[in-house]
Amino acid sequence: IQKEKVAIIGSGNWGTAAARIIGENVTRHPDFHPEVKMWVFEEIIENRALTEIINEQHENIKYLPGFKIPENVIADPDMLNTIRDATILVFVVPHQFLYKVCDQLKGNIHPKAIGISLIKGCDTGETGIRPISTILEEALKIHICTLSGANIANEIAEGKFSETTIGYKIREEGELFKRLFETSYYQVGIIDDVIGVEMCGALKNVVALGAGIVDGLKMGDNSKAAIIRIGLSEMKKFLKMFYKNIKDETFFESCGVADVITSCYGGRNRRVAEAHVTTGKSFEQLEKELLGGQKLQGTLTAKEVCTMISIKGLENEFKLFVAIYRIAFEGLEPKKIFDVIVD
Ligand code: NAD
Ligand code: 13P
Ligand code: CA
Repeated sequence: IQKEKVAIIGSGNWGTAAARIIGENVTRHPDFHPEVKMWVFEEIIENRALTEIINEQHENIKYLPGFKIPENVIADPDMLNTIRDATILVFVVPHQFLYKVCDQLKGNIHPKAIGISLIKGCDTGETGIRPISTILEEALKIHICTLSGANIANEIAEGKFSETTIGYKIREEGELFKRLFETSYYQVGIIDDVIGVEMCGALKNVVALGAGIVDGLKMGDNSKAAIIRIGLSEMKKFLKMFYKNIKDETFFESCGVADVITSCYGGRNRRVAEAHVTTGKSFEQLEKELLGGQKLQGTLTAKEVCTMISIKGLENEFKLFVAIYRIAFEGLEPKKIFDVIVD
């Protein structure tokens, strides 16, 4: 039988950690071709191309320093070359670069390819909020599964036990992706809810900003737990309101409550939001200062989500999301986060 050839589109902090898992798993399972290509947005680091560094040193020294990438993962700066012959596409770019990626890939994909999105984010179009999986399916005309969970990339690279969730429409596709990603320390649950899985991952980034704001205000654990609870309930309300068939169980998987918790304690969105409160600097500036080229997803997502909330006149239903948006973009005083969510 034909072996599945895997291409990874993206090679940031999570993309590189995921490539470590994929590179190992393709050699363990007979379903997969043992070589994996990884598209790298090329940049020059100390006079060397990042792709060259990855292919010679087998390490992404900028986005995941200190961890080896298996030698069967080949970095390539040319996207079309990366996906040539690939029957499995793993999408893991920061969500703001997705349309650019789609434009390049459109019409160039293997006819039997399927994809999986590891991206946490969404976009607001004329028809409402568009999940990443929908954008990919429409642009590329392929099936897309989603993978999202309580997955801080560096912890996974360290082999610390974590869970994740894969959303599928066709069970065999979910099971194939489970074989591609699961390891002894990275346990994969699968559920028939593509959009629920990924949209939990998008919305929790907004909640994590709220947690960072509370940390910046030095409000303590009860306050943070309140943000987590209210955040989760707004996530659920939002998804139930805008999408049919979101499953209640999804919120209890790793992609739901567990990702909210880990992101509210250990994520980049949390860290930058805390710094916004303690320094008064803008999120944009802090992203540059604190993240070393990594990208913040929560502020853009807050904007997309609140555009939708405002179009529908639902500000009173989503007071936490709106407060976080206003703190990030409209200069609302951070301590007002509690005023605006009090009934
Ligand atoms: P990252 O935050 O490390 O972002 C850096 C990446 O963006 C690099 O690969 C860089 O080359 C690329 N990039 C920069 N400018 C670009 C451009 N103009 N065009 C294309 N690419 C460009 O990336 P990441 O951590 O791999 O995140 C990817 C997705 O995975 C995000 O949606 C994120 O929410 C999600 N995610 C991240 C983590 C994590 O812990 N890092 C965990 C789970 C999910
Ligand atoms: P941050 O982007 O806030 O670091 O969140 C990472 C993540 O998605 C953990 O599951
Ligand atoms: Ca938009």
